[in-house]
Amino acid sequence: MARFSYGEADNYGGNGGHGFLSIPNDGDVVKVRFLYNKLEDIEGVAVHQIEVDGKKRYVNCLREYGKPVDDCPMCKSGKFVTAKLFIPVYDIESGTVKIWERGKKFFGKMAGLCSRYASKDNLVSHIFEIERHGKKGDTQTTYEIYECGADDTTLEDLPEVPVIIGGLVLDKSKDEMQYFEDYNEFPGAENSSRRSSSEEIPVRRRRTPATSDEDTF
Ligand SMILES: [Zn+2]
Repeated sequence: MARFSYGEADNYGGNGGHGFLSIPNDGDVVKVRFLYNKLEDIEGVAVHQIEVDGKKRYVNCLREYGKPVDDCPMCKSGKFVTAKLFIPVYDIESGTVKIWERGKKFFGKMAGLCSRYASKDNLVSHIFEIERHGKKGDTQTTYEIYECGADDTTLEDLPEVPVIIGGLVLDKSKDEMQYFEDYNEFPGAENSSRRSSSEEIPVRRRRTPATSDEDTF
């Protein structure tokens, strides 16, 4: 699986993205906890963006950095690889877990926060305000992150972090990816409408959404 740690982040190209945690307008502020203890808990994912049933989805790239493109059918067919962070945050106002989708450059920001706030205690025990600087659609948008207090909250006190690889990010085998490259759909559940048997009511089986915000994806 193409996951990477902070030290490896520069090996991957690409940046940008939009979050399930929505901070849509210039000056908007949200109050969150990052659902991590230490920097080592933070993992990037190298993904391909594809369309499944008319929806944009990410699929986990099967190629480790530096390995041949033969390891991943989507790399082999020339699909772009993007390095992403899917940062789980606890949105204090709504009391729910959301995913903040960031580009790999954000690893540096998270590393900075961890070195300041996760050395003697855990990052999750701190409350942060994230403030957007940049108008809607502005690709130069930045986010200021301010620490505004800590307590003894632990990860166990908060809702479970959604599965990223195998949930939000589709986790497919090499064969399944090759099938997608050949037929533009995944084998099995995704093409249930093709079934000829009239006995069977076609059921579109879906993976359990990782977050309730999935439809905004
Ligand atoms: Zn790939």
